[in-house]
Parts: sequence; structure tokens; C-alpha cells
Amino acid sequence: MGGLSMHSTVRCLKAPQAVLFLLLMLPALLAGCGGATFPENEKDDSMISKQEKPGNPYYSRTDTTTLDLPDSVWAKVLTKEVYRVARQKETEQAFSGKFLDFEGRGSYFCAACGNALFRSDAKFADTCGWPSFFEPVREKSIFYQPDTSHGLVRTEVICGRCGAHLGHVFDDGPPPTGKRFCMNSIVLDFEPDGE
Ligand code: FE
Repeated sequence: MGGLSMHSTVRCLKAPQAVLFLLLMLPALLAGCGGATFPENEKDDSMISKQEKPGNPYYSRTDTTTLDLPDSVWAKVLTKEVYRVARQKETEQAFSGKFLDFEGRGSYFCAACGNALFRSDAKFADTCGWPSFFEPVREKSIFYQPDTSHGLVRTEVICGRCGAHLGHVFDDGPPPTGKRFCMNSIVLDFEPDGE
């Protein structure tokens, strides 16, 4: 009986110890799981966009209807960073954009409205500090307008669907077009080609 009693006591002690152990280890276990998967998820989230954007009802990869919305509307549906470039024509810092050295095979879309803009085939390595392309995916993907700000004479590139400022185009690009579409990464979304 003594042996059985001792055994029972140990069993009684083990149960709360096991619960305590699990409670103490739970945060560590969860942190371990997060640590194992977060970097990969983070990379995917930063480079590959979703086909829909919660909070932006105007975003579509298939609807090509032209959008003519006031900045007050865009201010509500775009992130602050995208809004500053797309609607306020700011330029992201050179060599800071996520797509500068990105070599994924796929398509680039306007981050404000989802309009198809460029194919990765038209992207080329450039030293200017911003992702560069030699042609848009189709002629009406983008519009052009003169830009004389900052004492320069440049050609501004805007989204053909929503009018977002995307960057500028220059005549010092590679063949076959000789054009260099110098884009801000923050206003581009990327979707890889399917298998
Ligand atoms: Fe757009």
C-alpha cells in the first residue's frame, strides 16, 4: 500500500507540474513557431501583393474602368506612404525601394488601383537608384505629362487608370525602346507568374 500511496502522490504532483510547465513554455513555444515562419511570410508580404486590398474598393486587377477620384478619397483608401508618392508626387529615396534589385518573374501593377503596368521582362538593372523598365505592358497602361518642377524639364509617368504619379521616363534606356521608366517601388505591386 505504501508503494501505491507514494506512486499516487507522485502522480498528483506531476499533473500540476505538467500544467505549470506548459503555461511557462507556451509563450516560448509560440515565439518559436513565429520565429520559424515570420521571416518567410514577411518577405512574401513585402514583395508579393494580394489581388485585393481591404479598405480600397477601387483596387482591381481586372477592371480597367478609368477612375477620376479626388485626393480626399485616395487619402482614405491608400496607405500614407503610397499616397505621398501617388497623389502628392513625392519621390522615394534613391536605392531604398523594395523592387530596385528584385528579379522575380511576373507582372507589376499600380499599387493604388491594380492597373497592369510592366512585365518583369522589361525590367533592367540600372544605377539610377530606382527600379527601371524599358516599356509598359501596354500602351494605355500609362499616361505622360510634362513636369517642370524642381527647375527640371522631365516627363512624368502617371497610371493610365487612376492618374497616380508613378515616376518619370527618360530617353537614355536600353534597346529596343531606348526609354528608361524610372519608377517608385512604393507605387508598384508585384505578382509572380503562375507555374
Ligand atoms: Fe493606378
